[in-house]
Amino acid sequence: MELSGKIVLVTGGSRGIGKAIVFKCAHEGAKVYFTYLGSQTKAEEIIRELQSKGIQVGAFQADASDFQRAQEVVEEIVKSEQRLDVLINNAGITKDNLLLRLTEEQWDFVIDNNLKSAFNYCKAAIKPMLKQRNGIIINMGSVVGVSGNAGQANYAASKAGLIGLSKSIAKELGSRNIRCNVVAPGFIQTEMTENLPEQELQKWLSDIPLNRPGQVDDIANICVFLASDKASYITGQVIQVDGGMNM
Ligand code: NAP
Repeated sequence: MELSGKIVLVTGGSRGIGKAIVFKCAHEGAKVYFTYLGSQTKAEEIIRELQSKGIQVGAFQADASDFQRAQEVVEEIVKSEQRLDVLINNAGITKDNLLLRLTEEQWDFVIDNNLKSAFNYCKAAIKPMLKQRNGIIINMGSVVGVSGNAGQANYAASKAGLIGLSKSIAKELGSRNIRCNVVAPGFIQTEMTENLPEQELQKWLSDIPLNRPGQVDDIANICVFLASDKASYITGQVIQVDGGMNM
């Protein structure tokens, strides 16, 4: 098992990509904690399903954009486990609009939930990681953070911001054995992408050389790899997992 004995925290683990990461990490031997915003029933189902297989998992209702709550969540984990090995900042949302119509609220909401949220948890997690003299941070970006996308200025800016944040962490804390990378998914089938208008969906799909949308496990697999010792010389990178869509 790749993550045997590691303590992992995943933000936004109740659905979609985050849920797949929770399951993969747990099956690879990690003790996983995850956060969610409103999906309490879904969070409880995940806990029940894993517990029925004898796997312990913990969940916190915690808005990732809340700085104080992030500190509390990390403190609680460290109190019970005495460490935190891996942080995966996955929580994220979209509020798409053309720039001409994009409101200040839509801008702030996306930046707070996608970028400030990662800052909140990175800031909390590096305290125990510095003490341990090791740690792994994975921030969930997006290919549009690299390429930009019409109608997603707020989302693309938030995901581009994660790249700057992650590269800075990699440089600042590499000497303390803390690694930080960005996983940038392309088009992955989740609730986030299921309501796209047919025309837009076809446009995305026609741009994918591998000729299929990505699945949540495509992203969970790379997270397990980056969180494992096999990736011990990889930091400050943006790993695109997009079927070749953006190259
Ligand atoms: P999703 O199906 O909509 O799930 C989002 C998850 O994030 C849910 O667990 C949700 O919790 C949680 N969440 C949202 N806001 C939160 C907050 N403020 N605090 C705590 N948790 C919060 O989305 P997804 O498609 O799996 O996307 C996951 C990540 O991958 C996001 O960062 C997204 O930007 C990125 N991504 C996705 C795609 C794609 O094609 N799907 C492509 C590129 C990047 P609740 O269930 O409680 O609401």
